[in-house]
Amino acid sequence: MPLTKIAQQNLRTPGPTPIPDDIMEEMSLPMINHRGPEFKELIEATTDGLKQVFMTTNDLYILTASGTGALESSVVNTLSPGDRVIACTAGSFGDRYVQIAQTYGADVLRMDFEWGDAIDPEAIRAELRKDPSIKAVLVTHNETSTGVTHDLEAISRIVKSEFDKLLLVDAVSSLGCLPLPVDGWNCDVVATGSQKGFMIPPGLAFISISARGWEAYQDAKMPRFYFDLMAAERSLQRGQTPWTPNVALLYGLRLGLDRIISEGLESVYGRHASIGEYCRAGVKNLGLQLLATDESRASNTVTAIKMPDEIDGGKFMAMMREDEGVVLAGGQGKLTGHCFRIGHLGWVTKEDITEVLEALERVLPKVGFSG
Ligand SMILES: *Cc1c(COP(=O)(O)O)cnc(C)c1O
Repeated sequence: MPLTKIAQQNLRTPGPTPIPDDIMEEMSLPMINHRGPEFKELIEATTDGLKQVFMTTNDLYILTASGTGALESSVVNTLSPGDRVIACTAGSFGDRYVQIAQTYGADVLRMDFEWGDAIDPEAIRAELRKDPSIKAVLVTHNETSTGVTHDLEAISRIVKSEFDKLLLVDAVSSLGCLPLPVDGWNCDVVATGSQKGFMIPPGLAFISISARGWEAYQDAKMPRFYFDLMAAERSLQRGQTPWTPNVALLYGLRLGLDRIISEGLESVYGRHASIGEYCRAGVKNLGLQLLATDESRASNTVTAIKMPDEIDGGKFMAMMREDEGVVLAGGQGKLTGHCFRIGHLGWVTKEDITEVLEALERVLPKVGFSG
């Protein structure tokens, strides 16, 4: 495909997300020595900026990996094989967290919720009451596959204030877009990725770890090497990373963070909230149905919409892409073919969503949807 055509696309996948021109340019600056003074300044500035966005004074590390790398890191740095943990899932990314914990030998109590529903915090309380041996709770903040934001604040009150267990959070599609005060909600380990809310390409992952998380690290026996956070800590003390970092993405990140911080977190959250609301109202107005069963928990970073039975989903998505230049995301896991998703996170404006809604209005009748 010619590059000009790609440039004209309205990329509405919930990651990767569009990148502002100045950030694109910044990422083409000359390479520097990652063991030199310029790099020290870069890693310190970006780590600092990330702590502001995470709203935390906890330790925080930048990993060269996709978001899943940070999820894996959260598990292997705090747990041992045989540790009893709860992993809540209501979608594809919840399932992934379960799988990671199982892969490394955790004894996972898997709590399943309907895809489209929010995790019920009371159900977590009930399990924690029943089984005092549980060491940690793993939870996805925003389930990207279903467009649902779980009530992390309520979950953290139970997991932390009532039971004092470790709380590990997948915040890949929420951090920097939806309110997530890491210290305010007492989250021990929080993992996210660069390509969702940070206006830069895929390839970096960010992870914060609390003092309690470090205590768990002392006993944690799961194998780890590349993702060992103590290696990251030792290197950061010298203004470095243990392995060769993605320097270009860090240039972009520095600018992305400047943008988020100068816009102000409250304003960033407000923008996502109003665009999310606008998107949901628009699709409902077209006669489409949200996948989220409780609209008050529908996500402000991604809207998942039921694929109407009467239409050919593949043809519909192709027409949106080829005729309208709007790139939507399909369904994941068991939702494949049953839903489509509109990402509205990171560098997004209301106009981007207006374009999507207008394109939907033109394409839906052509594929046989009458509303
Ligand atoms: C995108 C995403 C991930 C990470 O996916 P990667 O492809 O590894 O970056 C994890 N969890 C959620 C909720 C996500 O949206």
